[in-house]
Amino acid sequence: MNQNSSVAASILLDAAQQSYPVSALYVLATPIGNACDISLRALHVLAIADAVACEDIRNTSQLLQRYGLSKQLLAAHEHNEREAADKIVERLRAGQRVALVSDAGTPAVSDPGARVVDAVRAAGLQVVPLPGASAAVTALSASGLTDERFHFVGFLPSKTRQRESALQELAGLQAALVFYEAPHRIVETVQSMLEVFGPERQIVLARELTKLFESIHRCPLGEAPAWLEADANRQRGEFVVLVQGAPAADGDDADAERVLRILLAELPVKQAATLAAQITGQKKNALYERALQIKDGA
Ligand code: SAM
Repeated sequence: MNQNSSVAASILLDAAQQSYPVSALYVLATPIGNACDISLRALHVLAIADAVACEDIRNTSQLLQRYGLSKQLLAAHEHNEREAADKIVERLRAGQRVALVSDAGTPAVSDPGARVVDAVRAAGLQVVPLPGASAAVTALSASGLTDERFHFVGFLPSKTRQRESALQELAGLQAALVFYEAPHRIVETVQSMLEVFGPERQIVLARELTKLFESIHRCPLGEAPAWLEADANRQRGEFVVLVQGAPAADGDDADAERVLRILLAELPVKQAATLAAQITGQKKNALYERALQIKDGA
């Protein structure tokens, strides 16, 4: 055994020696492209689980084969999640360990899984998260966007009017915006973003992350449609789209924001907005709208 393989063996042994309680649901992140992006704990749980609940049986069998594993698979997708949850709860009550996976990345993030987790928790049983790949976080980590916060949106509506009104609601957020998008809609979605956010903000088009044709392109939004149109390959594959947040308010706006936040910590929205308007001389309606956004976590 060379030095590297003995290191690998001892790390695998570490993972195997940790605690893996029975009667627990293991929410297990799988790779988003590169099959090596899976944690040692996740691999160990796949090896010892009594069953794996999955979004798509074929995809998950392929994944398991890749690691030399064969397991009983239970379908748990968006059309049967509630019934699947009941069956999983029965298994857990009988002392089994069940792993929950989606097709790629972290279950319950723009994927099925939340209802199963909800049912298991409601039954008073243990849920153990096994963290790993998530397309959103992977794209953010390589984006170089310096916004202090991010706001995860996931998929936008497919119809232009609804999409643009959803974007309008996000236009004032001082946080990087994180979207998932399908290749056949990427051009129109970027066009809608340009319409709503204007040409100045940075956009990051993170395509085929961790795969052979991975590309992470960042440019001002105004340049993005032409960049996409310049090469049909740039519109292929899976996308995470990031958009820089709204610029920070400066001067009087920043003061009003500070005052509003202080008042909101103690008072209801309407009263906070009224007082903030009196103190700062800013418009009450605008402060009221902003106060609602702050309350919503924006
Ligand atoms: N649960 C997954 C996660 O944790 O990221 C997301 C599942 S969601 C149904 C699938 C979407 O995630 C794709 O349509 C795409 O927008 C994004 N995505 C998944 N894998 C990706 C990849 N390798 N590169 C870029 N985007 C990806």
